[in-house]
Amino acid sequence: MKLGILGNGQLARMIALAGYPLNVHCVFLDPTSDGCASTLGESIVAPYDDPKGLSQLAQIADYITFEFENVPGQTLEYLSQQMPVHPPAKALLITQDRLGEKQMFNNKGIETAPFAQIDNLTDLQKAIDNIGMPGILKTRRLGYDGKGQAIIRQPSELKDAWQSIGAVPATYEGFVAYNREVSIIAVRAQNGEVRFYPLVENIHRNGILSVSTAQINDPAQQQAEEIAHKVLDSFSDYVGILVIEFFQVGDKLLVNEFAPRVHNSGHWTIEGAATSQFENHLRAVTGMPLGDTNAICPSAMINIIGKVPNTHEILKVPGAHLHLYDKEARAKRKIGHITVCANNAEALSTRIGRINSILH
Ligand code: AMP
Repeated sequence: MKLGILGNGQLARMIALAGYPLNVHCVFLDPTSDGCASTLGESIVAPYDDPKGLSQLAQIADYITFEFENVPGQTLEYLSQQMPVHPPAKALLITQDRLGEKQMFNNKGIETAPFAQIDNLTDLQKAIDNIGMPGILKTRRLGYDGKGQAIIRQPSELKDAWQSIGAVPATYEGFVAYNREVSIIAVRAQNGEVRFYPLVENIHRNGILSVSTAQINDPAQQQAEEIAHKVLDSFSDYVGILVIEFFQVGDKLLVNEFAPRVHNSGHWTIEGAATSQFENHLRAVTGMPLGDTNAICPSAMINIIGKVPNTHEILKVPGAHLHLYDKEARAKRKIGHITVCANNAEALSTRIGRINSILH
């Protein structure tokens, strides 16, 4: 069986690795030839909207999925007319515009931070009057890992913030004084069955995910699952992994955003869960039964950002598993991660501390 993946970065690489034991071969379409998944399967080097490249992919692949959020929605719509494409194009299209995404949440009765549409400095001034400060100005499109964002703490920062994001259509959001950030990883099969992984607590450094820890039996699990069901139900044909990121304030979860794809906060599942998010995504999109989503031990994931660490020291940490993505090291670039497991939460936290001291 052949699975076509739009994108050839580390998420595609980890889906492809999960495909090997199941005899699912991945074929990647990407405008670049040197993505870190390229060595693991056939590659078609073409722009995402190139009809020739897309029909070549459609001829080779039995199913299509994507790893990259900025694949043009029209590409998925075009491929959907010829073959099964999961998750659906409409889910991807919604996540490509922060404003529409937040409006969708509120229309479904799902709470978010207060937000406003910003097209010029006057809108920004009004939003600050209504929502207050501090707040975050975010580009509506193409922002990720803290890019395209500016914090506004006082009125004097307003013009610089607007210029720093390129004076493009944006949203202004009230800054949430959260007690923690969490995410829920859901997977939906072609027969409609939905399974959830344990809630994950996420710690960011400079707007980039740094550490994710699985929260077994977390009190907020049910609330997160209920919200995820509402999101999944808004796409009757959703198949594959869906991840929702939240801010927790007191007992309440406010949604930040969702991702219709495998997600960095789910990398711990490779060694920490009975079935990894990558295998379950692959099972779902190719019509196989879902695997067990339970954690098999207290687990966490620590991102390797910017430079390759002393790998010997990392591998000496008990329960640590190193995943390097074969990417050139560059500032702020995710080039790998470490999954770490332990018998109990205390031992896990000691191991995370040891890994962090090697990395930083
Ligand atoms: P995002 O690109 O929206 O995922 O934002 C990246 C990170 O910036 C989040 O995971 C938070 O750590 C922080 N952040 C984003 N929006 C807010 C907000 N409204 N309030 C507080 N922190 C935020």
